Amino acid sequence: MTTQLTGQKMFLAGNWVKSDRMIEVRDPQDNSIIDTVPAASEEHMLMCIEEAKIGAKTAASMPVHERMKIVNSAAEYIEKNSEKYARTIASEGSKTIREATKEVARCVQTLRISAEEARRIHGETIPFDQMPGSENRVGYYYRFPIGIIGAITPFNDPLNLVAHKVGPAIASGNAIIVKPATVTPLSALLLAEAFVQAGLPPKVLSVITGYGSEIGDVLVTHPAVRMVTFTGGLEAGEEISRKAGLKKISMELGSNSPVIILEDADLEDAVESTVSGAFWAAGQNCLGVQRVYIQDSIIAKFEKAFVERTSQYRVGDKQSVHIDMGPLISEKEAIRVENLVNEAIEKGALLLTGGERNGAFYSPTVLANVPEGCTISKEEIFGPVVLLYSVSDLEEAIQRSNDVNYGLQAGIFTRDIEKAHSAIAKLDVGGIMINDSSDYRIDTMPFGGVKKSGLGREGIKFSVQEMTEPKVVCFKLAIH
Ligand code: NAP
Repeated sequence: MTTQLTGQKMFLAGNWVKSDRMIEVRDPQDNSIIDTVPAASEEHMLMCIEEAKIGAKTAASMPVHERMKIVNSAAEYIEKNSEKYARTIASEGSKTIREATKEVARCVQTLRISAEEARRIHGETIPFDQMPGSENRVGYYYRFPIGIIGAITPFNDPLNLVAHKVGPAIASGNAIIVKPATVTPLSALLLAEAFVQAGLPPKVLSVITGYGSEIGDVLVTHPAVRMVTFTGGLEAGEEISRKAGLKKISMELGSNSPVIILEDADLEDAVESTVSGAFWAAGQNCLGVQRVYIQDSIIAKFEKAFVERTSQYRVGDKQSVHIDMGPLISEKEAIRVENLVNEAIEKGALLLTGGERNGAFYSPTVLANVPEGCTISKEEIFGPVVLLYSVSDLEEAIQRSNDVNYGLQAGIFTRDIEKAHSAIAKLDVGGIMINDSSDYRIDTMPFGGVKKSGLGREGIKFSVQEMTEPKVVCFKLAIH
């Protein structure tokens, strides 16, 4: 098998496959075509699923040490070729080269942790003799792979979020079919390349490129696909949930994360963390800081420092190491963000800095006094825009933080342990960062949201749990 270094073929069940129809992959910062990938058909998807039936048996019969070796080798290959991986992320996506380099390092970690987790897929003995009449029974449960997993991934972390599905799936003995975002398919194909180099048997993994609207339904509704793991927007997530039927579903969706700054906070640290959390990946980050609730006694000082720090952000050519923020994923997305900001300004919001668009670039933008009726006060912006609010106390900050349909992560800056505990207890989110912004994650922690931010948890150990089922074994003995 020869590996493709370009994305001109997709990886179907162990083979690099062409298609009559191609999709152009463009660099969002200048709209230049950087490659083309196949637009898969429903027949391609059906073929992948048929082949994955064999792949699932192969994967389940691979001993743990072999799965560990393969996943670790894939990590090693990516680490050795990290520059190529980072350049690909920074070309097809909107991340800067510094952001992309960090994503590659995290992907290596994600795979190494997955390999380690393979040896911890434990069961337990069951004391059957607790039930009168079961004195002569002994047994246990163990976890077995569920079979075929369908994975659908977004554009904003085009490598590591794919690794978060592929690593645990293979480590736990499953076959997996990945449909990456149409705008960023090359990083996912490079992940397949790493697994080919690592010696993964054919049919265990497919990376099928194509439009979600054309091939998504086949993957989501097919009865042989026992789990759909989706990361992306709320609209697609809800549609997929409706269609999937009786199978496991994991939903990692969006948010509009809040951060609370109390008057006893280390202001310098709070400004630095929230600015970075708001503008990482040009704000296209599910954990990105969108709403900041600041105690009124420090609002003037905080606002001034926040705007000053934001104004220092260097926006431009994402391939340059000197740049802090690149473009959005497309001009269309930048226009969407521009319209949302303009709507807020028309309704009375105060523009403190930013608000300028140039093609796919949108300047880091800070708004204050955003009225409740504006779309961005409740919905996810997914762009480099942050809303600053003044609040009288922690209770008000918590109430307003919770007053949205999302709940992925939150942050609070305070030195008061009682107040931190109160926020931990009362904020409706999947994770709370104390003295940090919402934008903090390591790849082993349980990661996911409440409300419309999702269902289930990722983070390797937790994905492995979702991707396996317990099987009970009970021996009835003649004597006891
Ligand atoms: P998106 O538009 O929802 O697309 C995500 C993926 O779903 C793409 O591969 C897309 O394919 C596919 N898709 C869309 N509609 C589908 C359908 N009806 N059936 C099957 N597949 C379908 O999201 P995005 O714009 O790429 O990503 C941004 C969103 O992801 C944000 O809301 C962000 O918060 C969320 N996100 C969440 C997390 C998390 O872990 N919680 C992490 C990252 C991002 P096409 O590309 O072909 O349309």
